[in-house]
Amino acid sequence: MYKNTFGPTPRAIGAMTLKTDALPKFIVIGGPCSIENEEQVNKIFDSIQNHVTHFRGGVFRAGTYPGDLWGWQMDLLKMYHKEANARGKPNIVDVLDFRDLEKIDPYTDVFQVGTRQCQHYALLKELGRQKKPVVLKRGLYQTLAEFMGSLEYVLKGGNNNVILCERGNVSYLDHVRWELSISMIAKLKQLTNMPVIVDASHGTGDRTIVEPMALAGMAAGADGMLIETHPDPDKSLSDAEQAIHMDQFKQIVDKAVKIMGIR
Ligand code: MN
Repeated sequence: MYKNTFGPTPRAIGAMTLKTDALPKFIVIGGPCSIENEEQVNKIFDSIQNHVTHFRGGVFRAGTYPGDLWGWQMDLLKMYHKEANARGKPNIVDVLDFRDLEKIDPYTDVFQVGTRQCQHYALLKELGRQKKPVVLKRGLYQTLAEFMGSLEYVLKGGNNNVILCERGNVSYLDHVRWELSISMIAKLKQLTNMPVIVDASHGTGDRTIVEPMALAGMAAGADGMLIETHPDPDKSLSDAEQAIHMDQFKQIVDKAVKIMGIR
């Protein structure tokens, strides 16, 4: 059983995420799986800007096969950062390699450690030395204790601005791509005072159950949600099967606010 050895840690990220009047004490991360073009970004950001605290969007992704990879598209990254900041919101960028940090830092407000990088300790150590917040996703196979180990790598470097993200794990079940662990959210809230968010997009891989699973995560104590959204979900460049339209995204956020009011 994991024992909390690092003690209470300031919820510094809270101050940054509480800026919208509409959504106090609530982290909502929305945007497409992949940043595709300026038109797509503007459509999505215009639609959801009053329902999010952060924008997300992939500009360099870890594909399952090396052929799925494409290099840093700096023009897309710069545009994504500019459009997010123009709306008064931070942008979140996935980091695969600490060697990329210097290059992407000027255009990144929050770093994200994807599920496959969650035990990339050299990267975690380097992010510990950064000042910017880090969204740390639980690894596909990670137990609670192992996830806490990854967290400690970042905290030990002196960076307490960590948002923990539950995004599901491998399992024997075959009705979902990944099995979202609701109990993980409750245990993370019990063991740490880090903000915890639920990613029901990757946590299911199935747009028909993104809403109930996101709301279940909120009921279990999550401080917010990460949801992938797209103007034309079927045409998403990546993760199309889990993308939802912005209208549904906003409905989920409104329902989550109600759940927070009664839990
Ligand atoms: Mn995705």
